[in-house]
Amino acid sequence: MKSKPEVVRAQILVVDDDPAAATATSSILLEFGHAVTVAHGWTDALRAFDPSSTDLVLMDAVMPNVDGLKLTRLLREQSASYVPMVFLTGLTSKEVREQCINAGADDFLTKPVDPLELRVRLKAMLRIRALTKALEDKSREFERAARTDSLTGVGNRRVFDERIMVELSRATRHQRPLSLLMFDLDHFKAVNDRFGHMAGDQLLALFGQVLRDQLRVTDIPCRYGGEEFMIIAPETTADQAKVLAERVRRVFARSAAELKTGPQTVSVGIAGTDMIEGRPDREVLVLTADAALYRAKGRGRDRVEVGGSWPADG
Ligand code: GH3
Ligand code: MG
Ligand code: MG
Repeated sequence: MKSKPEVVRAQILVVDDDPAAATATSSILLEFGHAVTVAHGWTDALRAFDPSSTDLVLMDAVMPNVDGLKLTRLLREQSASYVPMVFLTGLTSKEVREQCINAGADDFLTKPVDPLELRVRLKAMLRIRALTKALEDKSREFERAARTDSLTGVGNRRVFDERIMVELSRATRHQRPLSLLMFDLDHFKAVNDRFGHMAGDQLLALFGQVLRDQLRVTDIPCRYGGEEFMIIAPETTADQAKVLAERVRRVFARSAAELKTGPQTVSVGIAGTDMIEGRPDREVLVLTADAALYRAKGRGRDRVEVGGSWPADG
């Protein structure tokens, strides 16, 4: 690793039930150039602690009701990000120190706190925090990239496979509607053949953009494969899905006409749990949407068809 990230100005949460002690600690930290938030008890601390912006917690070990040990466990539980916790304690026995570490403390200092000692320990802890945060950010970025189709910006097949199961079981459990919309670009092979693969890619990217623009945040757009796309639409009946599909179809036709590839259209097949008898599973939903899509193609393309029986009835 080329550069070591060092936190110069950190956001530090000081938790101490004794206002005088809290003020003493804070003023040292402020002198070091850090930003400080003070909490005088566990409720304050839970409110003030923000794993995305709090870089370190200085925790008084002994407090009424919920002590530093219990509070550390609570904070760690509600945080996916690793925020160092340094204990301040008047108790120096090895047993107490071990209890602190077991509770999730990373380090401890004895009270009254020595400013120089505090500065040195903070430097080490904040370096760990900066490194960990950088790794956490990277890992989130990788996770996002592994789930996004890079050409179109919508979810990839893996997202579809995962989310259809999750959303379908949620819909079934709460007896809520869910629709699946299956899109297939019309005569797309001809675009590649006439204008080249790059122009085809550009059209796919445009379709991805249209999908992302037209959806509600709860709708899940995915590239199913090639020039086929899906939208998983929770809380949506087949009739409501038809309105969404028509909008996507119209907006895509309008936007595509502006590209050099000229007029392009998309066909859509819809399956809604509200029109499927019995307990709908993934396969029935996909087959139903596919059959409807097949019918849309057969009836002239550039249109939306809802439901129907499968195998496809043409
Ligand atoms: P239809 O209206 O019946 O759907 O006709 P179509 O030509 O769209 O259908 P077909 O399935 O015959 O052709 C799909 C084409 O999509 C063939 C394939 O080369 C192309 N394709 C698949 N993935 C990509 C991609 O990532 N980029 C490009 N440019 N083309 C792709
Ligand atoms: Mg196809
Ligand atoms: Mg096609």
